[in-house]
Amino acid sequence: MDTARLYEARARVLADLQARQHATPAAVSALEDAVSDRKWWAEQWPEGEVYVAGLVAQDVQDALFETVGRWPVCLTCGDVPVHALHIQPDLGGPDPVWVCEESGREIAPLGLL
Ligand SMILES: [Zn+2]
Repeated sequence: MDTARLYEARARVLADLQARQHATPAAVSALEDAVSDRKWWAEQWPEGEVYVAGLVAQDVQDALFETVGRWPVCLTCGDVPVHALHIQPDLGGPDPVWVCEESGREIAPLGLL
């Protein structure tokens, strides 16, 4: 497992947490947990490396949903109920992007919200 990929995954998810003022201690701690779980996972399955960044983002999203609610929220659609963005591809990679769950529009690559 190339640890550079893990650091990159961590940096990209942290950037998107910060972009939405969501980098709270709880969120950062969820991020650290996700990175260490996925490190273990990728050690068992080295070909899975390309999925790690998107999977870490999904793990953090799930952890936040249980505590503080949706992250990241879609800011692109107009007059519709609050809804979230999702990572595509669902598998987490390669090249994970945030996609609006309502419109299906691609919003930004992971790390560039
Ligand atoms: Zn939307």
